[in-house]
Parts: sequence; structure tokens; C-alpha cells
Amino acid sequence: MKKVMRVGIVGAGIGGVALAKALQQRGIEAHLFERAAKFGEIGAGVQMTPNAAKVIEALGGGAALRRIGFLPQAMVGRNWNDARELFHTPLREVCPQRFGADFWHVHRADLHALLCEGLPPGQVRFNVSCTGVTQDGDQAVAHFSDGTRFEADLIVGADGIHSAVRDAIWGKTESKFTGHMCWRALVPVEQHPLPFVSPDASFWMGPKAHIVTYYVKGGAAVNIVAVNESPDWVAESWTEPSTREELLAAFDGWHENIIELFQRTDRQQIFKWGLFDRDPMDRWSQGQVTLLGDAAHPMLPFLSQGAAMAIEDAYVLAAALAHFDGDLALALPAYEAERRPRTARVQLEARERGRTYHIANAQEQRERDLAFQQAQAKDPNAVGIKAEWVYEYDATRCEQRFDSAAVTA
Ligand code: FAD
Repeated sequence: MKKVMRVGIVGAGIGGVALAKALQQRGIEAHLFERAAKFGEIGAGVQMTPNAAKVIEALGGGAALRRIGFLPQAMVGRNWNDARELFHTPLREVCPQRFGADFWHVHRADLHALLCEGLPPGQVRFNVSCTGVTQDGDQAVAHFSDGTRFEADLIVGADGIHSAVRDAIWGKTESKFTGHMCWRALVPVEQHPLPFVSPDASFWMGPKAHIVTYYVKGGAAVNIVAVNESPDWVAESWTEPSTREELLAAFDGWHENIIELFQRTDRQQIFKWGLFDRDPMDRWSQGQVTLLGDAAHPMLPFLSQGAAMAIEDAYVLAAALAHFDGDLALALPAYEAERRPRTARVQLEARERGRTYHIANAQEQRERDLAFQQAQAKDPNAVGIKAEWVYEYDATRCEQRFDSAAVTA
């Protein structure tokens, strides 16, 4: 590289630490600034689909992913009150050949720890909340609530859906409540296995609601994501506590397996969110500042891609900085050209999946279920949630695309 780059990353969530790791791999200096006092056991399960697993492998986390992850057999669509199978997509046998990597279930805290492995101690400054970003010549400056500032060649806003960095460069706009409420809960099963919970990614679809269940922590716990439509607004955070009773009341009448699972939830591990999103942005970068992850493209979790997109962004941004020798005038447009169309499509299609999963009209449900059957009759490996295009993508090949884009231009 012609120039040693110093990068300041605001937010040390999944995207921030993935970027620090990707930059470290490329020999670029990175400093993380995190509002929280420490990393903790926050969050619940996340699906790390093959597109994300390819990046984790390239970042050197493959062995750790195999250690902490759970490999589901299949993705299974089920009807909400009679458990009838709506689709069945083999994953374990098919994903490596078809998409070039496995489909994993992990606990978010385990994934975060995996991405932090090998980062030098002291690389993260905790308890600092970014209040704004300014630009001074060829330097960007992040300002923090404790009065400190940090100058760098590039500041990256990896500070989530309510990004202060995005507000600083593009002006403050509110994210939109989508009308979806979401519960996340864990059921410990090591001591008391639940034979009725199959080792699959199970998508239960009902009127104006859906539930996804899958094993995490190597099979020691079942993760629940339960979504329904509700006009009530709830704070968007990882830690709004809820209760077993509230969860059971919201899904009254669902199949007995769901009810039994809910009755076994760990009372300390039930949280709720209001789900917010934004429209895709036209640009992410301005001068020496750019965005990544939820700060750039918050999305509904219905394709299970928010963390996966943040990890892909991180890899591509680091690759672009290295590829263009730290020249931001080339690297940031290349980063956006690679990432914005894809993340915009995921944002918009995730919204659409919410509609498909939640169909309430009986005739429309029959049409949807018939479409599932027809797709599987044509191709027994067809992904029930139509995500082949998501899983096929390989961020680790982005440098080839930078070259071909330069040739075309
Ligand atoms: P975050 O993880 O939100 O991290 C942002 C960080 O910035 C936080 O640590 C925060 O404390 C810090 N921060 C915020 N503001 C400031 C500030 N001003 N100064 C300093 N620090 C700041 N994704 C998947 O890939 N697969 C799934 O299966 C999946 N399931 C999901 C299920 C649900 C119900 C939900 C809600 C989300 C799900 N996601 C999933 C999405 C995923 O969790 C997020 O998209 C992902 O965590 C985004 O990562 P991020 O690093 O961009 O933001």
C-alpha cells in the first residue's frame, strides 16, 4: 500500500468488529469506539447463511464457526395451527455444493466473540458515544460525548439503525416503525431435550404472524423469533424485556408444539422489539466518512440477513481500501457499487417476505402454499423463502469485480 491508513470505526457490533478484523487482515490500522460499557451476552440466535459463512471463513473464523455453530438439516415451512409441512429445503447436504458454504445457526454473542478473536486488547474504547463527525482537509474527525475526538483517514459509521454518523453526514431522519412486533427467546434443552423440535430452521407461517425456531449453542438451546403485526410501538433495542405470559398471549391458538416450546422459555431470556426499517439510501459515503451494516441499510429480519450484510460490507470495504491503495476517491465508490444494489434488494425483498409469511386470507394462503409445492416439484432443493440469490453471492470475490468494473469504465 502506498499510504498507511488509519480507520476509526464507530460502533463495535457485528459489523464494526468484522470490519476491524478485515482491516487487520489487510494490514490497515483500525480503532473501535463503542457506546456500551463492555461486550455482553446480548441478543439471541442468528442464522449465518452461506453468503456470510464464506466471509467468516475468509476472515479466518471457519474453525471457530464449526465449533460454536449448529448445522440444521433443512429449512422447513409449517402451517401455524396444524404443523402441516409447506416446504422442505434440504440445507446440510445441499448448501456446500450449491452455495459454496454451510448454513449455520449461532448465538449472536458467540458470533461476536468469534469476530473479535485476534483483535489486540485495547483496540476498542468502551463507554464513548459518538455525537458527530466533521471533516478537516483530508482527515475526518469523530467527536464523542466525553469531549474527546479521534482523527483518522476514514471514519466508518457502524453504529446501527440509529446511527449518529449517518445523521452527521446526511442529516437526521427517523427510521419507520414497520408495524411488526418481535419477540426473541431461548429455551435451554441440554438437560431436557425436546424431540418435537426438529433440527431444522423451522418457519411457521400464520395469519399476520410468523415464528422461526432453530437450535443454537451447538444444540444446547432453541432460539425463537416470533413476529406479529401490531400497531403498538416498542423501543428498538436488543434488551427490552418481555415475559413468557406476554409471548403466550400473543400467539394464542398456535400449534401445541409452539405453545409447549414457549412454556419452556428461559424467563431471563425473553426480549421484545418493535421492528424498524428505512428505505435504501442513494449514497453512503461523503468525503472521508462512510457507513456500514444497519447504519447504512437497516432491514426487517425476514430474510435473516442484517448481520450477514454487515459482515459482507466489512469484507468488501477492507478489500476496496487495500485494492485501491487507500485512495478513498476510488475505494469508496467501488465499495458502494458492490454493496448498495445488493443490500437495497435485500431490504426490499425482506419487506416483501413479511407480506408472504403473514397472509391472512384463506384463498391467498392456498395460492402461496401451491406456489411452494410447484417450486419444489420443479426443483426439490428450491429454497422455500426464495433466497438462492442471497446465498449464492460471494463477497470474497469482490476484487475481481473491482477490476472488471474498472475495465468497463
Ligand atoms: P449493531 O449490531 O446494532 O451494532 C451497532 C453498535 O454500535 C452497537 O454495539 C451499539 O452499542 C453501537 N453504537 C450505537 N450508537 C453509537 C454511538 N453513537 N457511539 C458509539 N457506539 C454506538 N441478521 C442475520 O444476519 N441473521 C439473522 O438470523 C438475524 N436475525 C435477526 C432477528 C431479529 C429479531 C432482529 C431484530 C435482527 C436480526 N438480524 C439477523 C439482524 C442483525 O442482528 C443486525 O442487522 C446486525 O446486528 C447489524 O449489525 P451492525 O453492526 O450494523 O449493528
